[in-house]
Amino acid sequence: MCGIFGIANQSDASQMTYLGLYALQHRGQESTGMSSSDGDQVYTHKSMGYVADVFSEDVIAKLKGINAIGHTRYSTAGDSNEGNAQPIVVKCTYGTVALVHNGNLINAVSLREGLEQQGAIFQSTSDSEVILHLLARSEGDSLLDALGETLAQVQGAFSLLLLTADSLIGVRDPNGFRPLNLGTVNGSYVLASETCAFDLIGATYLREVEPGEIVLIRGSELKSVKALMAPRLSKCIFEHVYFSRPDSIVFGRPVQTSRDLMGRILAQESPVDADLVVPIPDSGVSAAIGYSQQSGIPFAFGLIRNHYVGRTFIEPKIKIRHFGVKVKLNPVKDLLAGKRVVLIDDSIVRGTTSRKIVKMVRAAGAAEVHMRISCPPTLSPCFYGIDTPTKKELIASSHTVEEICKYVEADSLGYLSLPGLIRAVGGKSSEFCTACYTGQYPIDFVDAMPDAKAEDRQLDLWEASLKE
Ligand code: AMP
Repeated sequence: MCGIFGIANQSDASQMTYLGLYALQHRGQESTGMSSSDGDQVYTHKSMGYVADVFSEDVIAKLKGINAIGHTRYSTAGDSNEGNAQPIVVKCTYGTVALVHNGNLINAVSLREGLEQQGAIFQSTSDSEVILHLLARSEGDSLLDALGETLAQVQGAFSLLLLTADSLIGVRDPNGFRPLNLGTVNGSYVLASETCAFDLIGATYLREVEPGEIVLIRGSELKSVKALMAPRLSKCIFEHVYFSRPDSIVFGRPVQTSRDLMGRILAQESPVDADLVVPIPDSGVSAAIGYSQQSGIPFAFGLIRNHYVGRTFIEPKIKIRHFGVKVKLNPVKDLLAGKRVVLIDDSIVRGTTSRKIVKMVRAAGAAEVHMRISCPPTLSPCFYGIDTPTKKELIASSHTVEEICKYVEADSLGYLSLPGLIRAVGGKSSEFCTACYTGQYPIDFVDAMPDAKAEDRQLDLWEASLKE
């Protein structure tokens, strides 16, 4: 997962981009970077770390110009290192081009192999670099033509921003896997993965960049081209379940509205006699409020999150993740003691975090612990930009709901149904990618994945966690 932000024709473009990236920090915490342009040159700064740490006032001042793009990275393809930080910047026949990418290309490995055989030298292991190689080799007369030619060759999930010396380009893949929004501020255009980035800079949300659309922004002019077609839409439903911020509009719908409904429908589908609805913060909060309001069971913050610790799952090094669970949450004993508690979270992946939390809530004195999950069981990994473990490691791929309940040591466990989830996100099932819940992938794989090595490593850890 990643967050992307771009702005054109704005005197303090890099300052605005810094703020936009700050609002998109939740989408990626490994590395961040920015490129700006002043009509003449492209300036870039990128590094491992958080937005607030990577960009100082001095750095921002050096990112001159009126156009800028930025990126917060969480790797789903390629290693976690500085070489894979974005923007990726190249010099080619179309001038200097900087690129940021949210998504995951499913044919990057085969495209890369083909390019390498033709002599291409890659600087990173990121799938996004393939796009720039194809662009540089294109015979299109203009950058826009070259981009159309390039994008016809890549498959998978891609919301992209490109920056040149004098223009900003936004692209959304034809399936519409990942979000990309268009806004306006001070007579300029702005693009961002989520609208929470617009709010922070006082921009107004205009619309989504449409699936398959390319928008070219130069000065205060915007040119739109519908360049790419796909047989079906595949908007990532998990953006509404977990990934996006509830204060964002994603795929044209407020995420909070979806999450509240997920909780309400969950309360209808999976009721329980209890004294208290407690969210697992922050991911379970919106759905828990919906569950509480629908069921009439009082809501309470029975678990307090230490906000200075990153989200447990977001660090790719597994050792850190386990550490994170322990330091992240603390039960409020006075609230929980003697109570029949409904714990609400958005999803169960491996089950390891949930198991620890259930134990913790019981140890705090809860009389009963019932888990309710605001999406269906996660059966299959995502290959379109969400970091999920391999299938083997997803507890629901090999265990029934009853078995998962036993593993997490809850008194009962209930998931939101898929029709319930579709209703909550206010769309038609044919518009969404629900592969993580159904195993039905909207586009076929070209490259073999996932790599066997990663599977072995994850399986060991999974077994280790079972022995705990
Ligand atoms: P576990 O109990 O180990 O399955 O972990 C479940 C927790 O992981 C839930 O609180 C989810 O909000 C969170 N989670 C689910 N998917 C992801 C993801 N792709 N990235 C980060 N966290 C996630």
